[in-house]
Amino acid sequence: MAIDRQEPPEQASPLTNGSSNMASLNNPMSASSFVAAAQSSLDYIVSYYKRLTSISPLSQVKPGYLRPLLPASAPESPEPWSTIQSDIERLIEPGLTHWQSPNFMAFFPASSTYPGMLGELYSAAFTAPAFNWQCSPVVTELETVMMDWMCKLFGLSEDFLSEGEGGGVIQGSASEAVVTCIVAAREKALLQHTAGLSGEAKDQKRAEVMAKLVALGSEQAHSSVAKGALIAGVRHRSIHARTEDHFALTHDSVSTALQQCQNEGLIPFFLSLTLGTTNTCAIDDFVGLSPLLAPLQHELWTHVDAAYAGAALILPKYQHLSAHISTFARSIDVNMHKWLLTNFDASCLFVRRRRDLTDALSITPAYLRNHASDAGLVTDYRDWQIPLGRRFRALKIWFVVRTYGAQGLRDHIQRHCDMGEQFGTWIRARHDLFSVVAGPSFALNVFTIKPPTTNRHQSDTIHSTEIAEGGVTAAAAPSSSSSESPLADGVAASKPSSSAVRAAAAAAAEVSSLEANALTQAVYEAINAAGKIFITSTVVNDVYAIRVVSANPLTDVEHVRAGFDEIVRVTEKVRGGWKWGIDVSLV
Ligand code: PLP
Repeated sequence: MAIDRQEPPEQASPLTNGSSNMASLNNPMSASSFVAAAQSSLDYIVSYYKRLTSISPLSQVKPGYLRPLLPASAPESPEPWSTIQSDIERLIEPGLTHWQSPNFMAFFPASSTYPGMLGELYSAAFTAPAFNWQCSPVVTELETVMMDWMCKLFGLSEDFLSEGEGGGVIQGSASEAVVTCIVAAREKALLQHTAGLSGEAKDQKRAEVMAKLVALGSEQAHSSVAKGALIAGVRHRSIHARTEDHFALTHDSVSTALQQCQNEGLIPFFLSLTLGTTNTCAIDDFVGLSPLLAPLQHELWTHVDAAYAGAALILPKYQHLSAHISTFARSIDVNMHKWLLTNFDASCLFVRRRRDLTDALSITPAYLRNHASDAGLVTDYRDWQIPLGRRFRALKIWFVVRTYGAQGLRDHIQRHCDMGEQFGTWIRARHDLFSVVAGPSFALNVFTIKPPTTNRHQSDTIHSTEIAEGGVTAAAAPSSSSSESPLADGVAASKPSSSAVRAAAAAAAEVSSLEANALTQAVYEAINAAGKIFITSTVVNDVYAIRVVSANPLTDVEHVRAGFDEIVRVTEKVRGGWKWGIDVSLV
């Protein structure tokens, strides 16, 4: 058999002195035992995936569970694979949070598929820290082609293809992509501001400009933007995204922020926009922002973080977004490892002008020089990223895209969007229990729990209607005897002058939203404590909300329905025993 012909030498080697014992120590897993171990690992993986539906998605272990179960030191003698593998089920599985479970509805998904896993396996087999073309030409060349495939599938303009001045590179994560772009944008800005200077004058000017550079992002942007600015050593300023703008940045909010920076003598050089914010999957207003940002392209680097929802750009119905992004963005990043069926890590960063990256990040010591690179014949992706070494990640993208086909990828995304819509319909149908904060948007629904109306406070809707009408009833305002919140004290006792009415209504609304926040948090914690599904919460513009996103490859509508039923069950239970200000016991 082919496998047997590949058996590595377990017989004598110069290093082993012909001792078969030494030989087996040097090579404790032969090719044939590797095949057996791999087969048994594959069997385990397949059975694990089958079991996923029936196990709690959340690990039940306590912090520090593992150390007492492991020896204090590394084993002195080799252990057989059968012993090692048995510890997977015994020691490892209990400590796993099962991201591939269809009952995992938290954060955003981290897709895993069999072709993706095979890509990882081959990548491991061909291991090479392939930092430049020469180190393994196919690692670079397949990556370039895959990034062009994905660029076309996402409907981005030709500017982002490698055939022109742009191109794509696979980064480890969206966070890595954003810091890379901030560094490149910083160097671009410093170069522009120090043009024509040299020596001490240049250094002086560089230091002056550095102190004024500001990276901007929405309050709703992912934390990696602020972290990227921190790492790049520049200021970070966040722009408020209003609830009434659906948590999106707009032409007005961005132009006001830019103006503000200029008034303060600062230099805004980088702006991160988001397609699909982490909190609510909001989309910054690309259409409105395009006329502002397109002319600023050379001084303000706009990065579009589409880490999760960018996957939906493969659907033609979303490609108007790609067209707008293409008018102003210098970079856009989409994680295939979130929603696009590719195992972590595979973050696709596309840039309009690859020189922006290489000008900033290319440092070539003598040992990295080679003819192909020096002659400019090849791409060296080490100059498009922060680390030197890189993994063969293009393989898994190649496997996934070929296995599913473009249409299969589109069907996958559409299926989850449909399930998210369905979930949103169920949530809205129970308006006695839930208030929608955002969504359904890209399979994400964000909502709060309504306090029981038998409680002292009416719903926010009542408050806002009354505020609009310039009046407030005693029922809508907290009574003067409601001592639980200092905000409530004395509000309803005053005679209703119009400013007092407004103050009372505002205070009542605040108390009401504090109660909704507390109840929503209690329900959220009870749902996760019950362990059937795993969800996450967030706070968005002072509103505590529950996020539910079902976008794992294994998720089907029956799981989404069961998840919804579980949320209703726990909500009714917690709400039934709800007393504002008094701790509720978890279900
Ligand atoms: N950007 C957004 C909008 C995200 O939601 C996330 C993570 O969920 C990230 C960036 C960070 O992604 P990564 O883990 O690939 O750095």
